Amino acid sequence: MKVEYQLEQVNNQIYVLAIWDAEWNTYTNAYLVEEEAGMTMVDSCKEGHLVFLQHALNKIGKTADDVKLMLVTHGHEDHVGGAALFTKARKVIHADETLPAEYSIRGELLDRGTIGEYDYRRVGYHSPGSVIFFHRPTRTLFTGDFLCFFGDPLSDGGLVSKGDDLRQAWFEYLEGGGVADLPEFLIGLKIMKEYDVDVLCTGHGGVLVGEIDVFLQELIAIGEKSR
Ligand SMILES: [Zn+2]
Ligand SMILES: [Zn+2]
Repeated sequence: MKVEYQLEQVNNQIYVLAIWDAEWNTYTNAYLVEEEAGMTMVDSCKEGHLVFLQHALNKIGKTADDVKLMLVTHGHEDHVGGAALFTKARKVIHADETLPAEYSIRGELLDRGTIGEYDYRRVGYHSPGSVIFFHRPTRTLFTGDFLCFFGDPLSDGGLVSKGDDLRQAWFEYLEGGGVADLPEFLIGLKIMKEYDVDVLCTGHGGVLVGEIDVFLQELIAIGEKSR
């Protein structure tokens, strides 16, 4: 049987929680960031994953009430489902993502801006108000499902790694025409490339460390060629 979830430290401030979702056959990720102002959570997996979120927080000596900010990349159920756990947090999503009021996630994000230690941009591919968040202190980019490893196994290098095998799989996926709206996707990739990124934290599967600009450049080159 597969491990149900993995918790790993990405850098001095960030933890990744990767939950195996047997129903959707994918790893689904959430991130915990330790900041001076309290914990920040990026996405929250599905409602049925609450027990893992709680367990992971306890493992690093925290509770849900320590989370003061929740950044939501987009409104799909595998990213907002755990939100109810965080009653002390300000929870934000892009204004173009509509959610039932019971989530108490406010659609207050614009197309670009700053919130706490993060710069954010709307990328508009995958869902109308998909947003990426750049954590300035650690140069970590959270991409949600705009760029992710949905349904892929983890890298041979582990959950947090350079992930050459995952990069290669993405090149082949793009070459094979896997991306439906290529012009929109290319715009988002170019937005990502404006940041000096050290770590790529996506909505599903492996976390990539190092030479992210090279990875993005290659994706853009392949995308431009296939237009
Ligand atoms: Zn999604
Ligand atoms: Zn997702």
